[in-house]
Amino acid sequence: MKPKPSCEHLSEVDKHRKPNTRGCEECLKMGDSWVHLRVCLTCGHVGCCDSSKNRHATNHYISTDHPMVRSLERGEDWGWCYVDQAFFEPLG
Ligand SMILES: [Zn+2]
Ligand SMILES: [Zn+2]
Ligand SMILES: [Zn+2]
Repeated sequence: MKPKPSCEHLSEVDKHRKPNTRGCEECLKMGDSWVHLRVCLTCGHVGCCDSSKNRHATNHYISTDHPMVRSLERGEDWGWCYVDQAFFEPLG
């Protein structure tokens, strides 16, 4: 087992932030599709993952500096910190 990465952002965000929308906000506006969804734990923005062609979750981090997302996929309970490049599973 790898030691837990240190991440100061985990204590700053709302791990149970409710998603603002049911799908990727930008893709919904563009009429585009996505593969998986990530929710921003700072503002509740929903964006698509890096397997999606538009990568709106990563774009959201780049444009806002909101550090963490969690998976919105059913049965998945992990978070990702863009700043520390670290996974947290389960996120709790
Ligand atoms: Zn972090
Ligand atoms: Zn998208
Ligand atoms: Zn955000």
